[in-house]
Amino acid sequence: MTYDNIKNESYARADITPPGGNPFPHKHLLGIWGLDPAEIKYLLDCADHYADSNRQSGKNTKTLAGLTQINLFFENSTRTLMSFEIAGKRLGMDTISMSTSTSSIKKGETLLDTALTLNAMRPDVLVIRHGDSGAVELLSRKVDCAVINAGDGRHEHPTQALLDALTIRRRKGHLNGLTVAICGDVTHSRVARSNIWLLSAMGARVRLVAPPTLLPVNATSMGVEVYHDMTAGLAGADVVMMLRLQQERMSGAFLPSLREYYKFWGLTHEKLSVAKDDVLVMHPGPMNRGVEIASDVADDIDRSAIQEQVEMGVSVRMACLDILTRKQREEEVGP
Ligand code: ASP
Repeated sequence: MTYDNIKNESYARADITPPGGNPFPHKHLLGIWGLDPAEIKYLLDCADHYADSNRQSGKNTKTLAGLTQINLFFENSTRTLMSFEIAGKRLGMDTISMSTSTSSIKKGETLLDTALTLNAMRPDVLVIRHGDSGAVELLSRKVDCAVINAGDGRHEHPTQALLDALTIRRRKGHLNGLTVAICGDVTHSRVARSNIWLLSAMGARVRLVAPPTLLPVNATSMGVEVYHDMTAGLAGADVVMMLRLQQERMSGAFLPSLREYYKFWGLTHEKLSVAKDDVLVMHPGPMNRGVEIASDVADDIDRSAIQEQVEMGVSVRMACLDILTRKQREEEVGP
């Protein structure tokens, strides 16, 4: 099944309005699957604008002043949580992050009751991260405000894929026609899934490079090329995206040892030498240096875009907050 087939199914399944006059007619951002290429481009163009303004003084605006954003993270996060906070604040929002370790979740309150409680406080945007795939979509059906998926289980992490795409587009000038190798623990990675949908939709050629134990069983039906060897998978690549080994999601033995994993699958300069000369190295973080990537590759200022990915994270999240609250802001101001 290709992205186009899957996309049409997704509209029906998620009850999402197909694209029409409004450049982004969705109430929530739950995943990349189901988004039209024009909608993805619209998000990226808006984020690109914020990326430029974020590099200038006077980057704080009052565009979203008076709106409330609640970040509800049931899983640990550094980059995503911080950048959503900064994004909201930079746009003038009242931004609150709820710590699940000090909330009533510890007293046994269910996920749904927590969401309904927060909903009663009338936030304008809820940003949710949860360990279960599908949990964010479930909550989005129960609340009135816009919901952004900040990562649900191994399902999707749409803002990560958008910031990856923005980083690539700003470096390479386009996404169409690029060969992108996504390497490592694909099975447990929501980042991989969102990137597969986004990059395929935008015309890039996606390769998955991993041992069979770390590839989903349906990998070949995702419209990607599959490689079980780093040399073959990285040959001629424009972009190499490394993934973290998600040991917290592994139940059972997926690999013999970390040392052996690094030997065969860890990204070193030697393995990278078969890629294009101007190859871009990426990693969503957090990195396990010496496991999936060598330190000197991660820190190679000519090739690594890892810090730029973090920078683009703020811009992408500003764009998402801006776009998802536009309709409501227009209604409040009136014609
Ligand atoms: N930070 C990314 C995520 O939340 C990648 C990772 O954790 O490996 O999915």
